[in-house]
Amino acid sequence: MISNSKGVALITGAGQGIGRSIALRLAEDGFDLGLNDIPANKDKLSQLAVDIAGKHGGQRRTHVVPADVTVEDDVKIMMETVVKELGGLDVMVANAGIIRTAPLTETSVADWDAVLAVNVRGTFLCYKYAAQHMIPRRKGRIIGASSLAGKIGTPYLSAYSASKFAVRGLTQSAAVELGRFGITVNAYAPGGIQTDMLAELHTADVEWTKNEGGFYGMMESRAASGTLGKADDIASLVSYLASEEAHFITGQSISIDGGIHFD
Ligand code: NAD
Repeated sequence: MISNSKGVALITGAGQGIGRSIALRLAEDGFDLGLNDIPANKDKLSQLAVDIAGKHGGQRRTHVVPADVTVEDDVKIMMETVVKELGGLDVMVANAGIIRTAPLTETSVADWDAVLAVNVRGTFLCYKYAAQHMIPRRKGRIIGASSLAGKIGTPYLSAYSASKFAVRGLTQSAAVELGRFGITVNAYAPGGIQTDMLAELHTADVEWTKNEGGFYGMMESRAASGTLGKADDIASLVSYLASEEAHFITGQSISIDGGIHFD
């Protein structure tokens, strides 16, 4: 059978939320997929692989690669496994992320380190090992997860906000360095997207949003659209950034937030 695959994409944090939507969309677009999440979420990845096979009649190949993106050897082996099993790596989506909500004065070093480890070190390692595979092929798309909180300092989210600002810096630096190898590096910077992570923010016990209908109410009232976004909204942006047509976009962290304004 002649393969009609557009290439191979690897998505971290694909077990749920935005990562799962990205995987489903890239499968729709014609990519074979490496599906990553933490080992505890292996069943979710296996279910996702079954869902993709069900939708595409087995035309799309998937490979489940549970790994902790904070661990360098895990990321290295994850990348090597995907290249070996699926035949290459064309698109890296470093989507995995975690959040902690607390006033600055009560943010523990443990929470700070945990957030920075997943959101910054994990993204850095995914960029690094993806680039190692892509440079010799003179081609690739690397995509990371920043946030609205990576553009505007956000109360009660100091570690998270700092981590998502860091993703923007990493993305710009990598883009400048890798451009001459035909590799683009961009990030998505979502506002409020309806996932478990946002639910965690909504129920967090902080003063900030209490008079504004919680985090959901605050994001809705401050979005020009008046709504929260959906994981599929992010997936469609990633679909474009991963495409050949997006070759002239690099170093960007693209806001996708329904037009958030804080005036
Ligand atoms: P989510 O919590 O629903 O899913 C995140 C996934 O990442 C989970 O499946 C989790 O197990 C996985 N993960 C966590 N640590 C990992 C690790 N060490 N190794 C591998 N996988 C790991 O979150 P989401 O809302 O889908 O968010 C996805 C990304 O988008 C995150 O980086 C998040 O910060 C960013 N983001 C989300 C929103 C939003 O409103 N939901 C807004 C801005 C940015």
